Amino acid sequence: MARQPRAFRRTAHDPEFPWADPSCTRCGNCKAQYVRDLRARGFRVVFVGDGLSDRCGARAADTVFARASLWEWCLREGVGARPFVDFGALREDEAA
Ligand SMILES: [Zn+2]
Repeated sequence: MARQPRAFRRTAHDPEFPWADPSCTRCGNCKAQYVRDLRARGFRVVFVGDGLSDRCGARAADTVFARASLWEWCLREGVGARPFVDFGALREDEAA
């Protein structure tokens, strides 16, 4: 997979990715960097997601609740996750 450029200089719009994570080759604003930062500060991260942009965050989190395509991806990739039903389950997880 090719490294995602931080900026393009061939168009008049010059899109930039100032929040790109240097360790990620896919995301313009990788959620894993925020998960890692929270974990480094001592937080236990419970991640809820449903799609492509949630994959890196799910890999980095302590606990994952997933639905839709993220759920299918977690099953395929062996990323431990629970199906997201509603936020009540998160409270139950917190109590455990
Ligand atoms: Zn990423």
